[in-house]
Amino acid sequence: MKLEFDTEKLVKAALEARQMAYTPYSHYTVGAALLTAEGEIFQGGNIENASYGATNCAERTAIFKAVSESRRRFLAIAVAGGMEGQEPVDYAYPCGICRQVMKEFAGEGFRIIVAKSASDYQVYTLEELLPHGFGGESIQ
Ligand code: ZN
Repeated sequence: MKLEFDTEKLVKAALEARQMAYTPYSHYTVGAALLTAEGEIFQGGNIENASYGATNCAERTAIFKAVSESRRRFLAIAVAGGMEGQEPVDYAYPCGICRQVMKEFAGEGFRIIVAKSASDYQVYTLEELLPHGFGGESIQ
């Protein structure tokens, strides 16, 4: 699949973002790298909390950082996760809540990349990971 952005660069940014994770409980670190329509990359790590329900995923950290800086259109997000200090052994797919948040801001052709390394990744459309999703058009 030919993509109009540097997938490997985005994956490397997601792998790097794992270092920003705050995971004193699970020690499972996830990094996300979000590419905006303006060509910027916002990184995020998962942020755990002693009250587990208050935990925030890496994908939403990156998206909320970008949205709070007035970015609204995104082209792609790369995600990588694994045990702290170890390379990912599996693809870390976004959870349901993160897929829903992506739906709110995903531009046309938005891609979700799950990666184990800079050369080992899978690319999906949001429709593949969130078919029949609920969006703003549903409440107009
Ligand atoms: Zn999530």
